[in-house]
Amino acid sequence: MRILVALDQGTTSSRAIVFDQEGRTLAAHAIEFKQHYPQPGWVEHDPEDILSTQIEALRKAVEMSGVDVRDIAAIGITNQRETTLVWEKETGRCVHNAIVWQCRRTAPYIEKLVADGKADLIKEKTGLVPDAYFSGTKIAYLLDTLNLHERAQRGELCFGTVDSFLAWHLVDGRPHVTDATNASRTMLFNIEKQEWDDELLSMLNIPKQILPTVVDSAQVIGNLRAEILGRPIPIAAMAGDQHASLFGQACFETGMIKNTYGTGCFMLMNTGDQLIRSNNGLLTTTAWRLDGKPTYALEGSVFMGGATVQWLRDEMGLISSASESEQLAESVNDTAGVFLVPAFTGLGAPYWDMYSRGTIVGMTRGTNKAHIVRAALEAIAYQSCDLFTAMVADCGHRPPHMQVDGGASANSFMMQFQSDILGVPVVRPMVLETTALGAALLAGIGVGVYANKEEAASMVKPDLTFMPHMDQYNRDLALYGWHRAVERSRGWVEA
Ligand code: ADP
Repeated sequence: MRILVALDQGTTSSRAIVFDQEGRTLAAHAIEFKQHYPQPGWVEHDPEDILSTQIEALRKAVEMSGVDVRDIAAIGITNQRETTLVWEKETGRCVHNAIVWQCRRTAPYIEKLVADGKADLIKEKTGLVPDAYFSGTKIAYLLDTLNLHERAQRGELCFGTVDSFLAWHLVDGRPHVTDATNASRTMLFNIEKQEWDDELLSMLNIPKQILPTVVDSAQVIGNLRAEILGRPIPIAAMAGDQHASLFGQACFETGMIKNTYGTGCFMLMNTGDQLIRSNNGLLTTTAWRLDGKPTYALEGSVFMGGATVQWLRDEMGLISSASESEQLAESVNDTAGVFLVPAFTGLGAPYWDMYSRGTIVGMTRGTNKAHIVRAALEAIAYQSCDLFTAMVADCGHRPPHMQVDGGASANSFMMQFQSDILGVPVVRPMVLETTALGAALLAGIGVGVYANKEEAASMVKPDLTFMPHMDQYNRDLALYGWHRAVERSRGWVEA
């Protein structure tokens, strides 16, 4: 009974990965599902799609792995964060499609909260900056527009993020629970007290009755319904995707840091039991909660990570595959003075400038596509470097190295440049699916396959370390050029 399975319910696909006790991947299966865009800037998922693709991915991955279902010790859930569902307690039927984290429809709610002077209060209690991204205003919108306040008051409705929704549908006895990491992304949760906040709830007119009970990130919440795999199996962990990945990288010590290079980049730093409030536009969040004790993290994100490479491929046609970017970048010695700032949707932390736009500067008659591709990969690393610098400034401590994962971290040129520009080693693990690994390890802790997180950490194995080779003079020169280029991109769209 030593196999662990992770359900990784993401924004574009539902995945399931089967791990052995040593943290090795035995099988993985992913199923994409449809994105709904009812209006510009609005994004929804059909809850039925989320559920059915997740169950099918689970069945398929287990079948592909060839493991005996009786050997599965536990299942862990990790998920796209902030996405909001409301369903009927009686029937389980959702009252509306899931409103996805990317959806901007509740921006007017945020404008009102900010105009009412609530920004500091929200930041103080939740560690978040007020934004439509988080679940709170999405719940308020559903209750308001569908006229559901009375039903909510009567306790007929349940709110949940995707972890909660899956738990309700997959676990015997239909527990209405969420874990502390997911709760921390609702903008309704006091991360210091680790409880739902009455003042925030009343600000958004959300009755407490619809909220799930908040549990630890590693805790048995019940058994998988037997008809799904033919046997009941403990579901023993839940955590938001970025939190699971921090865990799956075994970043257990204060000051340890990871960066995930997916569509965007997400950098999290473990700050231990200390709640650090950022002066540089970063978020504060619960990294995980074990035995009732929260560990905190600082978080920052880059909007255009691997998506910059997709742009090179799909819009510019400069490469035919993402991996080709590496050879092309290496075919030239440098960018010949070119900088590309992929501010296609504005810039996030530490700039927070929604009016900046994509810019290429420094081109000459000799600039070729290899220079542009190289500048694009370097830009992903420069943006991550800006986050790293912001984290160092907030916590007053320079991490000795940075751990990396995500699809685009497969690009060794980019990882070497990342190390050069940070001036610290960059460590890439064997398993790049650290989000799923984190959920599996948490589940292993939840059922006692691992005695504690230190034992689980030994399952996380580094593969390659990229050592910094650039000297300080050249690093400073490169960053000086980058920051001048960023200045050129800023405020381009006239408000
Ligand atoms: P997500 O989970 O956000 O969908 P993934 O972790 O699957 O993202 O990573 C996919 C992203 O990584 C895509 O944006 C893709 O362009 C980029 N990517 C994949 N392989 C490479 C590579 N070898 N070099 C650079 N970027 C890559």
